[in-house]
Amino acid sequence: MKTFDDLVSTFHSDRTKDLQWRFEQLAAIERMMSERESDFTDALQQDLGKHALEAWLTEISYVAEEAAYCRKNLRRWMKAKRISTPIVAMPASSWVQPEPLGVVLIIGAWNYPLQLTMAGAAAAIAAGNCVIIKPSELAPATSALIAKCVAEYLDTAAVRVVEGGVAETTELLAQPFDHILYTGGGNVARIVMSAAAKNLTPVTLELGGKSPCVVLPDADLEVTARRIVWGKYTNAGQTCIAPDYVLTDVDTEARLLPLIEKSIAEMFGEDPESSDSYGRIINDRHFERISKFIGDGHVVIGGKTNSSSRYIAPTVLTDVALDSPVMQEEIFGPVLPIIRADDLDEAIQFIRAKDRPLAAYIFTKNKDAESRFLDQVSCGNAGVNDTMMFMAVHELPFGGVGASGMGAYSGEHGFRTFSHMKAVIKRGWWPDLAVRYAPYTDKKFAFLRKIR
Ligand code: NAD
Repeated sequence: MKTFDDLVSTFHSDRTKDLQWRFEQLAAIERMMSERESDFTDALQQDLGKHALEAWLTEISYVAEEAAYCRKNLRRWMKAKRISTPIVAMPASSWVQPEPLGVVLIIGAWNYPLQLTMAGAAAAIAAGNCVIIKPSELAPATSALIAKCVAEYLDTAAVRVVEGGVAETTELLAQPFDHILYTGGGNVARIVMSAAAKNLTPVTLELGGKSPCVVLPDADLEVTARRIVWGKYTNAGQTCIAPDYVLTDVDTEARLLPLIEKSIAEMFGEDPESSDSYGRIINDRHFERISKFIGDGHVVIGGKTNSSSRYIAPTVLTDVALDSPVMQEEIFGPVLPIIRADDLDEAIQFIRAKDRPLAAYIFTKNKDAESRFLDQVSCGNAGVNDTMMFMAVHELPFGGVGASGMGAYSGEHGFRTFSHMKAVIKRGWWPDLAVRYAPYTDKKFAFLRKIR
């Protein structure tokens, strides 16, 4: 494939290893985000009905900040780190020297189509790689704009965009990339990982799952409701780390529901359909899929849909059967089931019986409950008393565990994901002790045992 071969040649020219080149490319990404902010806002509005503020907060400024953070810290991350050398290896010095992997592929999902491609690209560029970006075809306006802007702002000998769907991605996946970062669902992740295995290409898989949200009776329910509503209904629920469902006891549920209703009204008005702060579902297939979930429980809030604009109201369900599709599949839309759990132990058991989620949340003022939750619930990212806010901390690794993914990026973790940590030892010339060389003798053996 010509694009891939071109990038391999560029990588072998060593230009992407240069600190100045990396600085310039990262600065160009920052510039792209600021100069083309209104174009990206329009594209995200077209694809997902995102409000300009939401587009800026969760995508445009996120990418700009990630690129700036990489740029500011890059010199430090690139430095070789000295390691102490044991006596048996003396005289010597040892260090770990990061080196770029080569040509990497970034396959993004449609729900945050800019963030999920360009933040990864910033990390890969910071680590000195050539990059092929494959944005999701389900967000076509953003995909086209990324392709246009990357060609305009970045070094096209090293960073390219390939647009398209299954056919184009399949062709890309046949290439012997040095790393693949894939964001999307678990089924396609299996295709990606199988294709990668043929070339022994390492993968980072950013997947999803059912992220639980436990609310204990001692929580400040007013703040809890607001933060759950924000996490759940941002991007109309099409967020991999959105709280998928709430686990709480019967009394807390009764107190929480009116507060959730109030928060929805405060954020999106009495009629969210007419609010420009509320997004739309990406396509008809997802609209049908999510709409069906509404029938899986008793609608206490919302429930309204409009197929012509792919609007689904912020919806809350109670009395949901645990074997119904809404509790078996990742919802990935604005439908929030409230599931009864009498206490924290029951909630933890419930979560642990399912796949390990990408995010897990707990709302409580009780330190002991908090630690039990953090110790006993395995998940990619955890939030105590808020949803999604770990995304605001660049130095927290972002990634899943088990069915929610493998590997992580963000900040230095992204740099490390796209680097090989080369181990180096440099030996002194003298003395060159004969003790490890043949012929092996009892005396040498005894001496080695002593110094080891
Ligand atoms: P999607 O349909 O956009 O697919 C993701 C990518 O895979 C796209 O670029 C697409 O072109 C490619 N693709 C699709 N079918 C393919 C095939 N047969 N072969 C090769 N490539 C193929 O996105 P999606 O899968 O609907 O994404 C939603 C999922 O992603 C949810 O589960 C969500 O939780 C998860 N997600 C995770 C994160 C994260 O950072 N962990 C972020 C966003 C979304």
